[in-house]
Amino acid sequence: MIFNMAQLMKEPVGAGASFSTDIHEEQVQLDESLKVTSPVNGHVRMRRVNQGLLVDGWVDLTLELQCTRCLKNIEQPLHVTFEERFYPTIDVITGAAVQPSGEDDVFLLDDHHHVDLTEAIRQAVLLAIPMVTLCEEDCAGLCPQCGHDLNLGPCDCEPEVDARLNVLKTLLENGSQPS
Ligand SMILES: [Zn+2]
Ligand SMILES: [Zn+2]
Repeated sequence: MIFNMAQLMKEPVGAGASFSTDIHEEQVQLDESLKVTSPVNGHVRMRRVNQGLLVDGWVDLTLELQCTRCLKNIEQPLHVTFEERFYPTIDVITGAAVQPSGEDDVFLLDDHHHVDLTEAIRQAVLLAIPMVTLCEEDCAGLCPQCGHDLNLGPCDCEPEVDARLNVLKTLLENGSQPS
């Protein structure tokens, strides 16, 4: 997801120059912990603004995640939007090094005026992953005692009893058998 933006960087700021293109990548490696199981499709728009480029767009992709309850692997489709600023490191006209802006949250074009969207999309994907991902809406999860997958049927464990009920049970037992 690398684009050479030298041409757009040569455009004067304020002229409204922009570049748009579809994104289509068969295989993308975002992160060692993020398994992308689909092609990545989307769209990106880059606009020449003061100091650099304003880059926004979206991608659709599918991640392999785990069910929060039963830990089974699941395919989670995600629609991810992003908007970032990319600043040059080299002046496209003079070839001189550009002073860093000192601003946080800014991505940099490399010294050949390339925009690499991978890191921006990786960050957007991390933010888009839901806190809870379920294989089925009513996933029964794992038995907290033996780890059996309760979607496959019950296990032989005694149901866990609420701690407050335990106190009551002890009281009743003590009451019925006074020592
Ligand atoms: Zn599950
Ligand atoms: Zn069990």
